[in-house]
Amino acid sequence: MLKPTNNPRIVELTKSHRDRRINLSDIPVLKDAAGKRMCNWCGVVELLKGNQKYCSQECSIAMFAWANPQKENALYALMIRQEWKCNICQHDYTPVLNESKAYADRRNILVPELGKHEAFWFIKVFKNRCSSKVKPEIDHIHPVSKGGTALGLDNHQAICYTCHKAKTSVDNSGPKTSPQTSTNINNNNKANDILKEFKRFF
Ligand SMILES: [Zn+2]
Ligand SMILES: [Zn+2]
Repeated sequence: MLKPTNNPRIVELTKSHRDRRINLSDIPVLKDAAGKRMCNWCGVVELLKGNQKYCSQECSIAMFAWANPQKENALYALMIRQEWKCNICQHDYTPVLNESKAYADRRNILVPELGKHEAFWFIKVFKNRCSSKVKPEIDHIHPVSKGGTALGLDNHQAICYTCHKAKTSVDNSGPKTSPQTSTNINNNNKANDILKEFKRFF
């Protein structure tokens, strides 16, 4: 989701990496055929500064969410992608979202852009305001133990505690299978909508 990557190493790792996160410093700098350093995420913009890894904040945000799909930042992105509803029972989080925005307003804190430090603060405020049975949690749509991808947000969804508990008991039953290679096209289609949603926050 978010901006798509053109870095072949990222595409390959998305299919093969089995851990639930990856250290970004382990990913080599991307170079084109002529040896020019390119943005490590989008792969299409040349980097001109020596210490730069990404061409834009948009690319660094997409990379961070890809590498840490179980973190607050990813939960924030997933909630936006799902229009603040549990992706299974469709429990609507909009009232809690509005309360959290009002709380941020009273403290003169802008509802933050994805990837900014304040996003962690905001999603924590939001989670604390959810009652325990519907607290949102991050779930692998297709379990990693059965071949689901672990990196990136394509195989992730935010679901409420109650749905997560029920789904986990189903996921843990049955045989393990080989890795899946298909991707969720819908997620890429939604990338632009998500960016629009962020802009509305300003
Ligand atoms: Zn880029
Ligand atoms: Zn639910």
